[in-house]
Amino acid sequence: MPLLPYRPELVAALREPSANDPWRVLVSGCLAGWQCGVNGTDYGLGSGGVALFSLPTIRVIPFCPEQHGMGTPRTMPDLHGGDGFDVLAGRARVLDEHGVDLTEAMLAGGRAMLAHARQERAELAILTDASAACGSQVISDGCRLVPVRKHQKGVGVATAMLLEAGIPVVAQRDLKTMAAIRARLDPSFVVPAGLVDHHEHPWTLEHLPARHPRA
Ligand code: SF4
Repeated sequence: MPLLPYRPELVAALREPSANDPWRVLVSGCLAGWQCGVNGTDYGLGSGGVALFSLPTIRVIPFCPEQHGMGTPRTMPDLHGGDGFDVLAGRARVLDEHGVDLTEAMLAGGRAMLAHARQERAELAILTDASAACGSQVISDGCRLVPVRKHQKGVGVATAMLLEAGIPVVAQRDLKTMAAIRARLDPSFVVPAGLVDHHEHPWTLEHLPARHPRA
């Protein structure tokens, strides 16, 4: 299953939601306000989705794969040598800022997130970008806690598992696709003009111009 920002027709093709049968949407725990970030906060993200997540036509299913795998607080996991799909293929690893290998814990967290999504019959996932677990558009290339952080286009470990299982994914930074999703959930919502998804953002176009490897 591709990433939703690269296949907008898939948003239009999602079934009609209703209050009696809302969309079942897997959401990164921090986006839903869980204090599950590495530092025990929601990174300030929890209030951002309120308008969308409080609609009667959506059932939010929060989960945090890193918290499941490593607890909170924890050290900072980042991808080395590729993205989440490369981790699944054994070509890349997840290390923290001390060089400790967290790959197995990240795989365990991703598997738990996928199991939860399947149990709850999640139809799509709205996930926090830049995370080594939940990222989908832009992730760190190596440790982010360095003087000059490097980025890459790619997906996190949990995201790779969800995509492989056929669950479509969008990042909270994909403003155009998020607005299209909101319009499906609330037909009275008018999509503002000029919104772009994260790969269309000027920063991304300047720093990471190559096509997303999972698009
Ligand atoms: S692993 Fe995902 S849900 Fe957990 S803190 Fe990181 S981005 Fe949020």
